[in-house]
Amino acid sequence: MTAATNRTADRRRFFQTGAAAALGWTLGSPRVQGDDAAAGLVENGTYIEPPRRVPVVADADVVVCGGGPAGVTAALAAARAGARTRLLEAHGCLGGIWTSGLLSYILDSGNKPGIMREILAALQAREEDVRRAPSMYDPEALKLLLEQMCQEAGVALQLHTHCAAAVRDAANRLALVVTESKSGREAIAGKVFIDCTGEGDVAHQAGCGWDYGRPETGDAQPMSFIVLLTGIHLDEIRPYVSSLPGDTWAAPKDALAGLIKESSGFGPSYAKPSLFPIRETLFCLMANHEYGLRGFDVRDVTRATLQGRAELHRMIDGLRSLGGPWKGLRICSSPERIGVRESRRIHGRYTLSSDDITRGARFDDAVCCCTFPVDVHSTAADRGKGIEAAPVRAKPFDIPYRSLVAKDVDGLLLAGRCISGDFYAHSAYRVTGNAVGMGQAAGLAAATAVKEGVLPHEVDWTELAKTAPWSENA
Ligand SMILES: Cc1cc2nc3c(=O)[nH]c(=O)nc-3n(C[C@H](O)[C@H](O)[C@H](O)COP(=O)(O)OP(=O)(O)OC[C@H]3O[C@@H](n4cnc5c(N)ncnc54)[C@H](O)[C@@H]3O)c2cc1C
Repeated sequence: MTAATNRTADRRRFFQTGAAAALGWTLGSPRVQGDDAAAGLVENGTYIEPPRRVPVVADADVVVCGGGPAGVTAALAAARAGARTRLLEAHGCLGGIWTSGLLSYILDSGNKPGIMREILAALQAREEDVRRAPSMYDPEALKLLLEQMCQEAGVALQLHTHCAAAVRDAANRLALVVTESKSGREAIAGKVFIDCTGEGDVAHQAGCGWDYGRPETGDAQPMSFIVLLTGIHLDEIRPYVSSLPGDTWAAPKDALAGLIKESSGFGPSYAKPSLFPIRETLFCLMANHEYGLRGFDVRDVTRATLQGRAELHRMIDGLRSLGGPWKGLRICSSPERIGVRESRRIHGRYTLSSDDITRGARFDDAVCCCTFPVDVHSTAADRGKGIEAAPVRAKPFDIPYRSLVAKDVDGLLLAGRCISGDFYAHSAYRVTGNAVGMGQAAGLAAATAVKEGVLPHEVDWTELAKTAPWSENA
């Protein structure tokens, strides 16, 4: 047999028996020594990665990981405070759930001075003639705005970059993140890091502890596949549209749920579907819940995405079949990434508790005030498929700076939905107005830590807040 036929036979065997078997091992079994070099690197079902040199391609004062509402704001605040700032974002646009998740609706923004106000004013100026409800925006307009703001502030922006590992130095300070992208595996050094990945990926990779879901069961809030719709006109479908002036909250949702059931033959997995008007002929639909799947597990996220897309297409096909005002209905955009409500809650130097939100806690080191209520979407399909009644009620409460400072690793701040809080506290502060309030505080604190040569937990936020660009005294 020639070498070429040998290789062909090997290749055939590889495809016939699967990659693992061809390498001389099976999943979870002890290593079987083969003559392939890779076989020697597999032990007890794990691949032992050989040491390799990863180029350190950039260093920055402040490295922000994740460019969602929290991350963009953190990067803007750090850069504007004079720090050399690098923003790493996994997807091809900034905005996170705002844009790649197609959210289109900003909550708890009214009492957020600074960057939140700037963004709302800029959207208002650009979209004045087309927006149909306050706090609604067109994700495409926001993508451009966020890129322009970051470029103007001098943020070094890196899209399509996934943070895959985090490296601490001997003093337990985060020193590097390792990224994966089309450019391969690269390292980025920084003086202070801010984890705004939503999932708390970087803090987890660095070895921080975290909590997830309800403490009793581990159940967490469902993911949701949001879509943008076109081919319908606001004036013709008003009874089904949420968030219009005078909206009673329940009526349009119940009407839409009934219509979906009648036209598609099934009730939506989110029993209170919301159709939000962006323009007269462009709408955002949130009608899907994916239960029991975790946003930090790629197989769960894949399953949620496939199920969510299939459900939305069935629903829209059903509505279109009604004809009349629905006859032109089409999905014109689906999310680059399904929306994840709840993921890792990283341990910080303070953990916001249900007790704090119930009593409307005030803190000297407040970064912003959350005025949003406890908002728990059913954590399982048998819990009503809507919004659950909670044993806890929130009064407006402060989010303290210490909840943004990682407990287990130095040089690391958190902002957005991955900060330190319990299940019910998270269900209130998770909305994007608060993510922005936290992001701008984390960015300013990080830049200040670098300037003063201290660690983030040594920054006196109470003093710093008095001169923050958005404070009344500044
Ligand atoms: C379906 C749904 C509906 C919601 N409704 C509302 C609403 O109406 N109004 C509202 O204000 N809030 C709403 N929320 C809550 C809110 O959207 C989130 O809590 C908010 O996104 C928090 O912002 P964030 O910046 O922490 O996270 P995200 O928006 O998730 O941003 C995280 C960013 O990090 C990036 N990233 C993730 N991992 C990595 C990595 N390893 N490396 C590099 N980049 C990474 C992501 O691509 C993303 O851009 C909703 C959430 C969901 C899921």
